[in-house]
Amino acid sequence: MKTVKILHMYADMLDLYGDSGNMEVIGYRCRMRGIDCQVDTYSIDSEMPDFASYDLIYIGGGADLEQQHISADLLKCREGIKKAYESGTFLFLICGGYQLMGKYYRDADGNDIPGLGLFDYFTVAPDSRKLRCIGNIVIRTTFTGETVDMVGFENHGGQTQGVKTPLGEVLCGNGNCSKSKYEGYFEKNVIATYSHGPCLSKNPEIADYMISYCVNRGSDEKTELKKLDDTLEKQCRQVMLDRLLSK
Ligand code: GLN
Repeated sequence: MKTVKILHMYADMLDLYGDSGNMEVIGYRCRMRGIDCQVDTYSIDSEMPDFASYDLIYIGGGADLEQQHISADLLKCREGIKKAYESGTFLFLICGGYQLMGKYYRDADGNDIPGLGLFDYFTVAPDSRKLRCIGNIVIRTTFTGETVDMVGFENHGGQTQGVKTPLGEVLCGNGNCSKSKYEGYFEKNVIATYSHGPCLSKNPEIADYMISYCVNRGSDEKTELKKLDDTLEKQCRQVMLDRLLSK
């Protein structure tokens, strides 16, 4: 079977609430199935990689300051990332990374941090730093082919507007904007979400959706992933769902 190639961007800057753990989950779930998984890193001033040679590009979340720090470098990667996305590389984006693939992120001081403009949405933070969307979140998703109530943790000032294809419906928490009905952004090769956590340890189906996409990318025959025993993960999630949805 092919090696799944992942590029983890700005792991040293965008790693709020253990977002890098998502890469450990993907690596672990590949290893348990005998799938080779290579995770390369890219950060400010690294040599420009061939983005399209990767099956998946991952960017985590970060505070406004870190987003400002990486902004100029990220813009230099725009053409490479765009070409990769258009040729089918999967983009997995959390919070700050999610915001920066849209048109722009206007931070609490009114500074515009330009996004790559891959997608039509844009994000504006309120003037007051006290107005943030913080807390546990449950998002009902169906993109894996079954209904998965994803559990995560959100902490963002930014209010993301103009999302036409959200990831899921908010059952608890805020989502893209304060008290909004929908959360995240989805295309067949894009998952963008405000869920930290890291979200894949809490929601193994989402990890498997991406692994399956990567394994099958460019192949005519579909390889089914071996089932793993997720009893413990599902029990943990159920505890959170019972707690959050009974309120
Ligand atoms: N700085 C951004 C905001 O507050 C993103 C935060 C994050 O990645 N958690 O909206």
